[in-house]
Amino acid sequence: MQTHFSKEQLKNKDNLSSEKILRKCVHCGFCNATCPTYQLLGDELDGPRGRIYLIKDMLENNKPANEKIVKHIDRCLSCYSCMTTCPSGVNYMHLIDHGRSHIEKTYKRPFSDRFIRGFLSRVLSKSINFRVIVILTRFIKPFRFFFPKRVREMIGLMPGKFPKKTLKEMQIYPTRKKKPVARVALLTGCVQKVISPQINEATIRLLNRHDIEVVVPKGIDCCGSLNHHLGKSDLAHQFFRKNISIWYDEYLKKGLDAIISNTSGCGTTLKDYGFIFRSDKDLKQKAKKISELTKDITEYLDANVKLNFIKKKKDNDNKYKIAYHSACSMQHGQKIHDVPINLIKKTGNQVFNIPDGHLCCGSAGTYNLLQNDIAKKLLKNKISNIDKINPQFITTGNIGCITQIANGTKIPILHTVEILDWYTGGPKPEVLRSL
Ligand code: SF4
Ligand code: SF4
Repeated sequence: MQTHFSKEQLKNKDNLSSEKILRKCVHCGFCNATCPTYQLLGDELDGPRGRIYLIKDMLENNKPANEKIVKHIDRCLSCYSCMTTCPSGVNYMHLIDHGRSHIEKTYKRPFSDRFIRGFLSRVLSKSINFRVIVILTRFIKPFRFFFPKRVREMIGLMPGKFPKKTLKEMQIYPTRKKKPVARVALLTGCVQKVISPQINEATIRLLNRHDIEVVVPKGIDCCGSLNHHLGKSDLAHQFFRKNISIWYDEYLKKGLDAIISNTSGCGTTLKDYGFIFRSDKDLKQKAKKISELTKDITEYLDANVKLNFIKKKKDNDNKYKIAYHSACSMQHGQKIHDVPINLIKKTGNQVFNIPDGHLCCGSAGTYNLLQNDIAKKLLKNKISNIDKINPQFITTGNIGCITQIANGTKIPILHTVEILDWYTGGPKPEVLRSL
């Protein structure tokens, strides 16, 4: 694609990288075929190619965003299915991140939008705030029908239970061996640690059981992706900088073999820290190192650990039929697809890919809260594809997908790491107790 940025514009590092991305696009439109919003809405501007044009037009002409542009960019899930499909290697992720940041700087949203986005930005990224909101919504949930539609739907998506106790930060989880075989840091996730702390507990048990020491650093809450995807670059950068400083200065120097992510949405952003700070002379090397060290839990286990599966007599007779939901951030963002499936297969159970598994379930960070109608349609399609398998339970590697899918089906859903923990000696996951 031809571009017309001026020399002056290209002095800006973001324009420079976006120009390179745009030049790779040959506007073939292959990406539209696998874009969930294009499939649902059928509008060129709700597909990746149309959005690329909208972003190009804004950036190249230094134009402020307008209502029409914002509508179509906001409808993008950042699922990156288009990146998997694109034959030219267009990095849509970096382009849309730039586009969102430009929108945030140049467009004044209606008050209700600003309020909701500001609220989500401040509440979800701070686990203390989120914990309070979860407790409050537990009380107001039965009365949600008195609230306006948008608020009502947001309350409906909140967990119906009180949050459980979370892991202690600044805690070292040692192995039984005096000298562990490796030492890793765990990112516990701002939302995950409040609503599903059992995922982090299973991760630690599993790693400890295989002689890997785990540290949960104090002060690391959100990875920054929540604000990053809302276009709130300044706030996101505050999280990025703080995390880099804690991981690098306080832990890496003492020896760290990996930073483990068990939430694929966060893992995708951590792996992008190197790119985000590519021009920052103070943080460039540190951010690159953090990205290199970041591994999804399944990726780390597959490459470094020989899992010691324990045969479970009762369960051996009763093999489970499991549906694997490949989170977009896992399969398109991190290009990890077969690894979790192969690990689960080692438990002796049957694992099935969900038909049309490349399509998003509608969770996508805060998407199901902000674009509820589209998210609901995507969820409906996902559930109908899951039903074609008729599984006993569903598994995935991302808390957002777990929450979203659990809202659409009674089939139990749990994190992949909970299965691996169970089959290597951990407790049977709570959601499966009735099976
Ligand atoms: S598939 Fe790639 S090259 Fe083709 S239009 Fe989409 S982004 Fe551009
Ligand atoms: S990220 Fe997903 S929703 Fe957005 S344009 Fe690409 S395929 Fe479509």
